[in-house]
Amino acid sequence: MKQLKLLYAGKAKSVYRTENPGELVIKFRDDITAFDGQKKDTLAEKGHLNAGVSAFFFGLLEKNGINTHLIRKIDDTTMLAHHLAMIPLEVIVRNIAAGSMVKNYPVEKGTPLNPPVIVIDFKDDTRHDPMLNDDLIYALKLASPEELHELKRIALEVNTVLREYLAGRGIDLVDFKLEFGKKDGVIYVGDEISMDSMRLWDKKTGESLDKDVYRTGQGDVITQYHHVASRIMAEE
Ligand code: 5GP
Repeated sequence: MKQLKLLYAGKAKSVYRTENPGELVIKFRDDITAFDGQKKDTLAEKGHLNAGVSAFFFGLLEKNGINTHLIRKIDDTTMLAHHLAMIPLEVIVRNIAAGSMVKNYPVEKGTPLNPPVIVIDFKDDTRHDPMLNDDLIYALKLASPEELHELKRIALEVNTVLREYLAGRGIDLVDFKLEFGKKDGVIYVGDEISMDSMRLWDKKTGESLDKDVYRTGQGDVITQYHHVASRIMAEE
C-alpha cells in the first residue's frame, strides 16, 4: 500500500490517496486546536495517542456490528480506511449536560440526560458549525429522512457500546461527536473517536480526561491523554 497525494489536511489529521481509489491513508498529526482554530499547538505524541484510541474504539464498534471506516492500523499514527463520501454533519450525543449545551441553554453542568440528547451541527468552520434541525438538513439536502433516521440510530448504538465500555473503566461518557460517510450506499462511522471528540469524566473525581483540559488550559494535556488512553486500552 503506497501513500500518494495529499487529498485533504484538516486541523489535526491529513488524508492521503492510495493506489486503490477505495482506500485512504489517514495520518493523525500532533496538532491540537480549539475554539474554531483560534487556539492551536503542536504537542508531541498527541497523534499516536489519538490514532491508538480511535482505532481501538473503531475495533470495538466493529465487534458490535457497527460499520466504521477503519480497515487497519498501519503504524502508530496512521490508519488505512475506506474512502467514504463524507456527510458534512457533526452528530453529537449527550448523556450529561456540558459544553455548549450549558452555555446556550438553562441547564446545569452535570445534569444527567435521559434519554440521551442528539444534536446535529453543520460541519462548516467558516460558519462556526451552526446547529441544524431535521427540516434544515432536508432543505440543504444534507441527508434524506431515511438517512437521518439511520444516522441517529447508529449514533445511539455507538453511545450504548462506548458508554458501557467506558463505565467499566470508571469513566463517564459525557458527550461525543461522530462524523459519517457513505460508500456503495452503506453508511459508515468515519473521522475519529478520540479524546479530541469526546468529553470523558472520571466517575470518582469528576476530573476531565479529554480536550477540555486543553480548552480550559488547566493541566498537562498529553499527560492526561496518556493516562486516559492507557485506562481505555488496558487489558482487562
Ligand atoms: P459542544 O457542543 O459541547 O462544544 O461539544 C459536544 C461534544 O462534541 C464534545 O465532546 C466535543 O468535543 C465534540 N465536538 C463538537 N464539535 C466538534 C468539532 O468541531 N470537532 C471535534 N473534534 N469535536 C467536536
